[in-house]
Amino acid sequence: MRALTVTPGVKNSIRLEDIDPPTPSSSQALLRLQEIGICGTDLDINQGFYGEAPPGSNYLVTGHESLAIVEKVPGSDHGISKGDLVVPTVRRPDSCMNCLNGESDMCLTGNYREHGIKRLHGFGAEFAVSDVDFLVKVPSKLADVAVLLEPMSVAEKGVYQAFKIQERMLWKPNRVLILGAGPVGLLTTYLLRLKGLEVVVTATRAKDSAKARLAQRAGAVYVNTMEQPLQSLGKFDLIMEETGSAQVAMQATSMLNTNGIMCFLGIYSSTTAPEDIGLFYKDVVLGNKTFFGSVNANINYFKMGLKDFAEIENRFDRILRDTISVRISPDEFQKAYAQNKDNIKTVIRFNN
Ligand SMILES: [Zn+2]
Repeated sequence: MRALTVTPGVKNSIRLEDIDPPTPSSSQALLRLQEIGICGTDLDINQGFYGEAPPGSNYLVTGHESLAIVEKVPGSDHGISKGDLVVPTVRRPDSCMNCLNGESDMCLTGNYREHGIKRLHGFGAEFAVSDVDFLVKVPSKLADVAVLLEPMSVAEKGVYQAFKIQERMLWKPNRVLILGAGPVGLLTTYLLRLKGLEVVVTATRAKDSAKARLAQRAGAVYVNTMEQPLQSLGKFDLIMEETGSAQVAMQATSMLNTNGIMCFLGIYSSTTAPEDIGLFYKDVVLGNKTFFGSVNANINYFKMGLKDFAEIENRFDRILRDTISVRISPDEFQKAYAQNKDNIKTVIRFNN
C-alpha cells in the first residue's frame, strides 16, 4: 500500500513509498483512510525536530489528523461496525493515574504513544490500525469536514478547560482575544462565536486574506497586527494564545482583564525577554489572573467537537467546508509540505 513516511530526526525525509499493510491486533480496527490533514506538527516532524518510529521500525508513517472508513473490527461490542465513518484520536494511554482515568491528554509520565508522532504509525496511508475504543463515529452529513475534528479537539479542550477553571468564581466573559488565525485559531473562533462571545482575532495576514475573511464570516473582528498594534486592542476576559510566538504571548499577558484567564496552545521556542517580571507577577496577583497551558485532547473533546461542527456549519453557512483550502492526491504530497501561508488547511485524499 502507499504510505507517507519519514525517517525521524532526518530533515526533509518525507516520501511516498510502498509498504506492507498493517495487521490489526485483537483490540484494533483496520481502517481504510479517506483523508488526512497536514498541520504544523507534521511539518516539524519533517524538519526532524521530533517524531519517533515504532519500536523495530526505521520509519514512521506520518499523519495524525484523519478521516477513515472502518474495514474490519474485533468483536461487536464496541459500537463500531464495518463501513462506519470514523476519526481516530491521536494519543494512546500508558498506565499512569490520568491515562487509566481516560485522560491520556493529561498523562503524568510522558510515556504515552501518539499515532503519526510518537512510537505508533500514523494515518497517512491507504490502511492503518487504531485501538477500536479510540474511534469517534462521524455522521455522513459531516463527511466533508470531519478531517478537521482533530484540530477542533485541541480548540475544544483549551476552551473547556478555561471555563472549567473559571468556575472558581462568578465569571461572565464578554471579550475574547484569539492570537493567531491558523486552523486551530479559526476553529476556536467559530466555537467562541457559537457561545455568543465578542471575538477579536489577530494575525499578520492582510484584512482581505482568506483567513481574515473566515474570521469575519463567523462574526469576529479581524486585526492585522502589521497595521494595528496588539496593545491598542484593549482588555480581554479570555485570551487564547495560538501563534506559538513567545513574544506575542508575553505582550498579550498585560491585556487580560481582572479575573481573566489566558490559555497557551503553542509550542514555544527558547526566547529571552527583557520584560519586567516583577510587574507581571504583581499584575497576576492583584488581578486574580490565571495562565495555563493545554495540549492534545482526549476522546471526549473529539465528541464535543463533532456536536459543535454540526451547529457551526448551520450557523456560519458551511464555514468549515471553506476552511479546507485544498484537497490533493498522495502523489502531490510535496505541495502540502511546502509552507504556503495563504493556505489554511491542506488535505490529502487517499481514497476517492
Ligand atoms: Zn499516562
